[in-house]
Amino acid sequence: MSKYEGPTSANGYEAIPLPLPGLPPPPRRAFQKLPKKSRALAFLKRLKLIYPEAPCSLDYETPVQLMVATMLAAQCTDARVNKVTPALFERFPDAVAMAGADVAELEDLVRSTGFYRNKAKNIQAAAHKILTEFDGELPSSMAALTTLPGVARKTANVVLAHAFGIHEGVTVDTHVKRISGRMGLTKHTEPVKIEQDLMKLLPQADWENWSIRLVYHGRNVCTAKSPICQRCDLLDICPGAAKIKKEAAKAEKAKAKKKAAQKKLKKAQK
Ligand code: SF4
Repeated sequence: MSKYEGPTSANGYEAIPLPLPGLPPPPRRAFQKLPKKSRALAFLKRLKLIYPEAPCSLDYETPVQLMVATMLAAQCTDARVNKVTPALFERFPDAVAMAGADVAELEDLVRSTGFYRNKAKNIQAAAHKILTEFDGELPSSMAALTTLPGVARKTANVVLAHAFGIHEGVTVDTHVKRISGRMGLTKHTEPVKIEQDLMKLLPQADWENWSIRLVYHGRNVCTAKSPICQRCDLLDICPGAAKIKKEAAKAEKAKAKKKAAQKKLKKAQK
């Protein structure tokens, strides 16, 4: 399975001529007057140019292995999960092996992904349910998948899209949540509501690749703490840049004020 290699150019990825044909020119204000759906489609179009490939970054060979890798990726990086899964899948390659595993051995194998006791317990319980209630086959519907222990909508969305080619929803992780908000496409903070907003704005076939591209962008450019707006190829259409600039100026002002107050206090104490 192909893996994302990371940015190569000075700008983080191949340079894109701005503005793109078909998009309104800067300033950003003109773009913000467009309907939200048009703005979402413009972001999508641009993201596809920035990140032409959108493969799943988890390594797996079967749908069950993808489910397990996605469960392990909770509160953990995909890179860390990919270090753990070769040994895990060699020892326990399928639902039969996972259901019959010694739980202490399972815990040991997934320990470095964090929350290992819970993850090992869920993997075994999910494997057991696949054997007893789904004839040993991973189900391919959202309703059935989310009955498996440790499988919520986020995991089910990833499995359905990559293992079965079914687009039931948008996977909302921390990057999708943060960047979709910065782009002005949702005002919500709960993943379920963000997912509903994005499903209304994006074509169904692009639901999953939207998430993957935002994960790339969130790791490389639009990071949580220090987004590099000035080097971002979405800068001319993203309202987040102005907000971030404003917030940084506010934080800088508060810092200067605090410093001045401390200086004044020190002087008074002398
Ligand atoms: S312009 Fe800034 S806020 Fe908008 S996507 Fe780029 S890095 Fe993120």
